[in-house]
Amino acid sequence: MTLIEEARNGRVSPEIEAVARHEGIEPASLARLVATGRAVLPRNIRREGRNTATGIGEMLSTKVNVNVGTSQNLNSPDDEVEKALAAVAAGADAVMDLSTGGDLDCMRRKILEAVRVPVGSVPIYNAAVRKELTSQGLFNALEKHAKDGVDFVTVHVGVNKNTLERLGNDPRIMGVVSRGGSLTMKYISETGEDNPYYSEYDYLLEIAKEHDLTLSLGDGLRPGCIEDASDRAKYMEFIMLGELVKRARAAGVQAMVEGPGHVPANEIKTSVKAMKYLTDGAPLYLLGPLVTDIAPGYDHITAAMGGVIAGMAGADFLCATTPSEHLDLPTKEDVIEGTYVTRIAAHAADLTRPGVSDRARSWDLKMARARADLDWEGQFQAAINPARAKQIRHRRGVETDTCTMCSELCAIRLAKEAMEKGVCKK
Ligand code: SF4
Repeated sequence: MTLIEEARNGRVSPEIEAVARHEGIEPASLARLVATGRAVLPRNIRREGRNTATGIGEMLSTKVNVNVGTSQNLNSPDDEVEKALAAVAAGADAVMDLSTGGDLDCMRRKILEAVRVPVGSVPIYNAAVRKELTSQGLFNALEKHAKDGVDFVTVHVGVNKNTLERLGNDPRIMGVVSRGGSLTMKYISETGEDNPYYSEYDYLLEIAKEHDLTLSLGDGLRPGCIEDASDRAKYMEFIMLGELVKRARAAGVQAMVEGPGHVPANEIKTSVKAMKYLTDGAPLYLLGPLVTDIAPGYDHITAAMGGVIAGMAGADFLCATTPSEHLDLPTKEDVIEGTYVTRIAAHAADLTRPGVSDRARSWDLKMARARADLDWEGQFQAAINPARAKQIRHRRGVETDTCTMCSELCAIRLAKEAMEKGVCKK
């Protein structure tokens, strides 16, 4: 039985027990969420003992994924493993291998060996790089990834003749910016056939079920610029993904749904609510959303802004964006920066998230108390990145009990002293 089937039969598996303990919720409640598909625990049975269970979905803290992987220009597997390890050290909850350069099978296996968090991948890249962009090639790639132990795969099932017709009726500035989405379009345009992952979805579900592989139904039609956000093709894809989530659940396969992209701040809430509604509350995995197009070099920040709004509206899983987005393959430093900034967005959303906010707020409270006491060690301990906080505090070598911002005019100290003298008493 798959995890979702076990949960439906009322069994609280060790993974559910472990995640529930970590999240501070009742295991039986988590089992119910898994049973209904409102939470997923990506774990391939072939990776047993090598994957620390992580829960994504309702009543669970917002999780962060970090992408790594070679490109055709920059192909250093060791660098990508180092980035994956750095991301996990910085607090990433999952890692996706998006390699498209060199020996993809070797790269994927290295990542699977290196980290203990759930690992995701995109099988269509394998088929494309091996020049096997055929129905057989796509399913061979999927099966290979599943057999290697990948915990979740992105499959761009929403890119099909139906959604592409909507795209044709409502043209965009940027067209399709998803790599998997564009490869699927290439397949459809060259063969005249529909997307095999869509037309043979039952077969895809069989493979996923055999390995208890979680599906991440990709948003191949995600908007690549603010002007293209929330158009007909995008909403048609949401509708299709909702139907496919239902079929995955019925087949005993865990499924989450991916979302856009570039979305103006005032449209994010509607977009998230629509996705949640149309997919019957499936865990929502967001790429960004980036709230503006004009900030290359700062897109980890534009994505974090969107991530907070999306998280407040119900998004469950944020994909880290790095300062290199739209410009270059991220360096290790970019990956670390992107991981922390995305974790900050996830935590900011968690401060308002049902079932999670109390625990999230207790972290902020720790920092507030340390700040009120000018307790620098306490502040470092409560910081999301203690090393960075410490480095900035000590970088000029000026040691004071306040900080060099206001020095002797430290508001916290002056107010505290005044209050101790009774300024607030009648
Ligand atoms: S010196 Fe100013 S910035 Fe620094 S801790 Fe005191 S009030 Fe805050």
